[in-house]
Amino acid sequence: MEKDIDITKVVRQHLEMDDFFTGGFAVKGKSTPSKPQQQKDNATVAKAAKELEKIADEVCQCRKCDLGSMRTNAVPGEGNPNARILFVGEGPGADEDAQGRPFVGRAGKLLDKIIAACGLKRSDVFIANILKCRPPENREPRADEIINCFPYLQRQIEIINPEIIVALGAPAARTLLNTNKSIGQLRGQFHEYYPGLGSPPIKLMATYHTAYLLRNYSQENRKRVWEDMKKVLAELDLPIPEHQSK
Ligand code: URA
Repeated sequence: MEKDIDITKVVRQHLEMDDFFTGGFAVKGKSTPSKPQQQKDNATVAKAAKELEKIADEVCQCRKCDLGSMRTNAVPGEGNPNARILFVGEGPGADEDAQGRPFVGRAGKLLDKIIAACGLKRSDVFIANILKCRPPENREPRADEIINCFPYLQRQIEIINPEIIVALGAPAARTLLNTNKSIGQLRGQFHEYYPGLGSPPIKLMATYHTAYLLRNYSQENRKRVWEDMKKVLAELDLPIPEHQSK
């Protein structure tokens, strides 16, 4: 049964969230922003874009598990093939399933605000999920579904070769780090994702999923996510916009 929604609370949360992630920021540190993209030549980036398209086509044909026949659209992921930051979520929700694009619902709007608060655009980063098809009722991904689907993300990571992966929520962090630890234990510090034999590890920051943040709305949780993102920006030598509390 649907829970009663306190509309006033939801509206107030939205306004406060807007203020926290979009308003009252001043850039601290460097005055010239670093380049948000890695230095790869045009041919390399074009090749990466083509390879990512090929994976997206495979994902759209995929029927390795039942989710493939339940979906409206597969959601392979999207963004800059030359991204320095790759955000990884859990799996598509209803809005993403309807549009075939990642993070376009409420949780996605909040992710957009976090990206903007970092001084970046959505087109600077790449956004993908562990699962490429929506699990029914937005339940957590099952182990067999992850086993079937994860190789697509592994190949996307290999191609994009981001400098930092931001894992949003426990299922993403646990899958990428092959651990059972809680998101509370994992967030706030850098870990290493191992792309495969012969490739150096990629730094991974785990943080709260934006859907969790929307459900557990507190100044403390928002601050935690922002602290995590500030560490990502510092690691990339990007300017850190500072939140000015009123
Ligand atoms: N939540 C996710 O984990 N991924 C999406 O794409 C949207 C919501």
